[in-house]
Amino acid sequence: MEAVVLRSMRYGEADRILHAVTPEHGRVSAIAKGARRPRSKLGGRLEPLSAVRLELQRGRGDLMTVVGADTLVVHHRILTAHAALETAQRAALVVDRVCVPDEPAERVHGLLRTLLALLDEAPDRGGEGMALAFELKLLYALGLQPVLTTCAACGRPDGLAGFDPVAGGVVCSACRRGAPPIGAAAVGFMLEALGRPLAEAPALERPAAGEVERALTGLAAEHLGVDLRRRG
Ligand SMILES: [Zn+2]
Repeated sequence: MEAVVLRSMRYGEADRILHAVTPEHGRVSAIAKGARRPRSKLGGRLEPLSAVRLELQRGRGDLMTVVGADTLVVHHRILTAHAALETAQRAALVVDRVCVPDEPAERVHGLLRTLLALLDEAPDRGGEGMALAFELKLLYALGLQPVLTTCAACGRPDGLAGFDPVAGGVVCSACRRGAPPIGAAAVGFMLEALGRPLAEAPALERPAAGEVERALTGLAAEHLGVDLRRRG
């Protein structure tokens, strides 16, 4: 099956355990036995951020065994640019967090392939704007679309002052209570990023980037029960 390798961890003396996202089966965990031996045919083909075709065998539980791997795309140029690499790694981390085993993830897999192709073609597109536009589209693909033009609690179109993950979007000053503040730049970014293809993701500076990040982290925690930023 087609897959993008999200993480690869050393295991035992010579093995690797990898996480990958697949269109049909969502996130798969698989052991590649002997992958760290110098002559292993598998080893070099299972690098994180590679698009691969995996041949997997089911065992007991969720852990499958990699019996074959072919490289589809290695994103060489991403590895040469710090911002592109960071953006790609961050995307792989959030995909690893939101995907679950045995639930198709066609759109998520496709979105990640799009991002990797984009960053490989133009590594200078990496950065906060691209990373957060990806996360917005990822949450959208999972059914989460923040309310951005009216108060998510009372429907008022003006006086919007905060972002309340529980309400699912921006809230006015009367409904805000303890919700963290959000500015027009952050809201404008989210509207634009959702309305455009990923390739046209708008740039984003701090502090607006921090506000968007906090909003998306809050949405994922509240509605998916997932901590987007935690490793492991
Ligand atoms: Zn309100």
